[in-house]
Amino acid sequence: MLTEPLRPIIYDLHSHSQASDGVLSAQDLVLRACERGVTVLAITDHDTTAALATAQAAIDTHNLDLTLVSGVEISTLWENHEIHIVGLGFDPHHPAMKELLHQQFQRREDRAVMIAERLAKAGIADTLAGAREEAGDGQITRAHFARYLIRLGKADTMAQVFKNYLARGKTGYVPAQWCSIPAAIEAIHLAGGAAVVAHPARYQLSTKWLKRLLAYFAEVGGDAMEVAQCQQAPNERQQLARYALDYGLSASQGSDFHQPCAWIELGRKLWLPKDVVPVWEKFPALAAPDRG
Ligand code: AMP
Ligand code: MN
Ligand code: MN
Ligand code: MN
Repeated sequence: MLTEPLRPIIYDLHSHSQASDGVLSAQDLVLRACERGVTVLAITDHDTTAALATAQAAIDTHNLDLTLVSGVEISTLWENHEIHIVGLGFDPHHPAMKELLHQQFQRREDRAVMIAERLAKAGIADTLAGAREEAGDGQITRAHFARYLIRLGKADTMAQVFKNYLARGKTGYVPAQWCSIPAAIEAIHLAGGAAVVAHPARYQLSTKWLKRLLAYFAEVGGDAMEVAQCQQAPNERQQLARYALDYGLSASQGSDFHQPCAWIELGRKLWLPKDVVPVWEKFPALAAPDRG
């Protein structure tokens, strides 16, 4: 009997929708993931799970061959660094998760007001309304301030607007009072999920501090770290795989897709070096359905 060749299984466990600073709606995100050959997608919006129900409904309506894993990207504060912890495969309705995300929402609201105040003092008025307009119904982030400032003609690119206005130490930067790493891990675990350090190479930590972060994360009960992204420095993936083994963490992978662009794409270049333990093997709730 002839059988269709199986397409490769591709996990993309980090992506954003309009529920935070992604540009695509939840529906367009799952349609695109499917087009790009993704098998298992986690939508990991910043401090919100609002896209998940809509995304699953779109998968059902269009009968897509795509498995959705619940996700979230929680902003935390560790040793004065903003560290992002991804939660995967948890119950989004669990009271502990809802409570934490409600607190994070309030922190984002408070910070947005302060960012706008700081920008106003620097001569750029009314950015709160503009950023909210960019955010629509979604959770407000610095990316929305950035897009509004670009709309105002204050800069041409996201990189530039962050560099000039929104990055740490710049006029519009306000340190947020995010939750601690253990608080994020606790909520994820109570809700039945896996806790993952997002993009470890992107915090501009020295090797010593990065190792300190990963050791701490493992010590306080964290489960995994992202090892593979579609855009990485040479050797970065191997180095991160080494750390995952050294600190006893499972390995995850994700595009951190925010919008269609030339160099970051859903499902692209996502594979793990051998020897690491994929997070979906440690946590079967994340695994692609058996096709046997
Ligand atoms: P927030 O979580 O509100 O502090 O917003 C952070 C978000 O802004 C990140 O998730 C990125 O999507 C975006 N972002 C941060 N830094 C940059 C940058 N240098 N260039 C482009 N986007 C950035
Ligand atoms: Mn983002
Ligand atoms: Mn992040
Ligand atoms: Mn992200």
